Amino acid sequence: MVWLRENSCAAYSIGGRNGAVVASEGLSVLAPRERHAVLAHEYAHIRGRHHVLVMFGAALAAALPFVPLCRQGAIWVRVLVELAADRRAAQACGHDAVRDALIRCSAQGARSSAPEPSSHRFVDDRLRWLGRAPRPGRSRRVLAYPLALTVSALPALLAGVSVMGIVAASCLTV
Ligand SMILES: [Zn+2]
Repeated sequence: MVWLRENSCAAYSIGGRNGAVVASEGLSVLAPRERHAVLAHEYAHIRGRHHVLVMFGAALAAALPFVPLCRQGAIWVRVLVELAADRRAAQACGHDAVRDALIRCSAQGARSSAPEPSSHRFVDDRLRWLGRAPRPGRSRRVLAYPLALTVSALPALLAGVSVMGIVAASCLTV
């Protein structure tokens, strides 16, 4: 865990065997439960090896830009790993903590820099996804783990489908 002397409300993770989370001291404006949610989100990226999936998606898009699935897949892998990490963080810290952290970090980011419409839409999408996620309870606990597993596996599934599509396309063209 590395802390940066930076006022922005930001955190990111570095993948790999010795993965690390880098966070700015600006996160101190968040309530402790919100700060934990931000860090849980980043650790979910490391545990889920999301960096490998994102790099794999980007490599496929760069190598085969003429294959629509590869081109679009890179973007969707990025989106899906964020949703999967949000879901993991919500399981660890609660939906409200993740939602509040997203809203507050997004609002602070919009104040400190020129807002990017696409990034704001993406935050809205993440909030919508989080709002629809079933909250863990006694009756739903049985379903919560398989659902989380499915969501976590989506990026890997998408990458696998991309590879199979490329293999199939190359077999058909040879
Ligand atoms: Zn993330």
